[in-house]
Amino acid sequence: MPKKPSKKNLPPSSGGPAEAFSRHTGIDPDKINHWLEIVRAQDRLDSEAVLHQLQTRVKDLSDVLDHIGAYVFIKDLQGRYTYANRLARELLNRSLEEILGRDDSHFFSADTVADIYRHDREVLQHGKTISDEERLIPNGRGEMRVYWTVKMPLHDDKGNIRGLCGISTDITDRIRMEEALRANQTLLATVLDNIRACIYMKAPDGRYLYANQALGELLQRHPASLIGLRDENLFTIEASVHFRHLDAQAMASGSKVEGMETFRLGDGRDRFYWSVKMPLFSENGTMYAMLGMSTDITERKHLEDELLRLATTDDLTRLSNRRHFLEQAESTLSRSRRYNEPLSLLMCDIDLFKHINDTFGHAVGDRALCRVADIIRSSLRDTDLAGRIGGEEFAILLVQTPPEQAHDVAERLRQAIESAPLVQDGGSQVNLTISIGIASPAYPVETLATLLQHADQALYAAKREGRNRVCQA
Ligand code: GH3
Ligand code: MG
Ligand code: MG
Repeated sequence: MPKKPSKKNLPPSSGGPAEAFSRHTGIDPDKINHWLEIVRAQDRLDSEAVLHQLQTRVKDLSDVLDHIGAYVFIKDLQGRYTYANRLARELLNRSLEEILGRDDSHFFSADTVADIYRHDREVLQHGKTISDEERLIPNGRGEMRVYWTVKMPLHDDKGNIRGLCGISTDITDRIRMEEALRANQTLLATVLDNIRACIYMKAPDGRYLYANQALGELLQRHPASLIGLRDENLFTIEASVHFRHLDAQAMASGSKVEGMETFRLGDGRDRFYWSVKMPLFSENGTMYAMLGMSTDITERKHLEDELLRLATTDDLTRLSNRRHFLEQAESTLSRSRRYNEPLSLLMCDIDLFKHINDTFGHAVGDRALCRVADIIRSSLRDTDLAGRIGGEEFAILLVQTPPEQAHDVAERLRQAIESAPLVQDGGSQVNLTISIGIASPAYPVETLATLLQHADQALYAAKREGRNRVCQA
């Protein structure tokens, strides 16, 4: 069989290609026609295969585009759709036939398509590739959606722009999450910076990772400047050692701890803080920080101290009041009993006090009470207890003091009061004397009530015997 001629060498047509070729070559025109027939059939087969291949490629491509999570579309120079992938068709809520040839005014609320037109113009008129946000309300949804859109020009063979190809992704949920996150962060920062408590985060090595406005103000520094510093860089050594105590407790226990922290700043005033500290753990269980919140309770502490003082002391003389004296006496007695230590109770009563009140007035009477209280206070050791337990009656508990020794103390006290008369404005004197009854407990039977009773009996004996004296039960 003769060799098949290549398509390039096919004879030019003049009357018929086979005839012309035959004239040039002398080959039988029928043979040439037969060859030509074979070549044409082959040609048809080739173009059908190419077409088929092309169709398969287009279908593959469109399948791929229908399965990607983005809106893909092509528009012509007038902004009319010439292609829309499955997601885009679903968004526009139309079939491909209904979409093709239509522009966006058919699919999006009129007042929101401005973004689209502006971007399309950039691409179609100026050949730019743009990537930007588009905020649109798809028809029938009534809800604004945000898309991140990339649009690029498409060119024909001559390089002229013939349309654009766009790829959009719906970033509404991401934007909402980011907005919610930002709002939360702003809220948190606002709360943290406006709360009166000091809030801070420290790394396990004690370095500050975060400090709020309140801590910054306390230390008179910008909160950001505290990051990376430790307590010893900011407070006195005593204070930082003190803080470390609760920090270490929180870190060692791995749970929330709380307690009072006190320190002194430059102004010399003691400050009291109630601190709550808790360790923070990462997902793999390692502790990465300790979160602390310290509330200034200085005012409250002073108030509490003042309330405690008011509840336990006598307003006029500043000695313990009756209730507080009896409470303390009870526990001192039981401790002394436990250790079998001597103890003495002195019951003192100002002599003829009614007479002082009546003669010199109530104010002088009050001054007399204060004078006696002062002398009592100054003649006792720190461990002894003294209280005003009645109008002009005082009780004194001398710890580790046997009766003989107590008698000496009482006698010195009696003499001190006798020799310190009140001097009035005009120079006249108000003589003061007291009578004292002493009782010491007989362990283990003695209770505070009986001890008081015995001291009272001794006091009455002193009164009976002429006052200004000491009597022992
Ligand atoms: P005696 O030597 O027997 O103790 O005589 P007295 O006058 O001290 O006896 P009495 O216990 O009857 O009097 C106590 C007086 O103390 C009665 C009361 O008017 C007075 N008094 C009680 N509390 C106060 C006070 O807070 N201030 C003043 N100024 N007087 C008080
Ligand atoms: Mg009395
Ligand atoms: Mg009296």
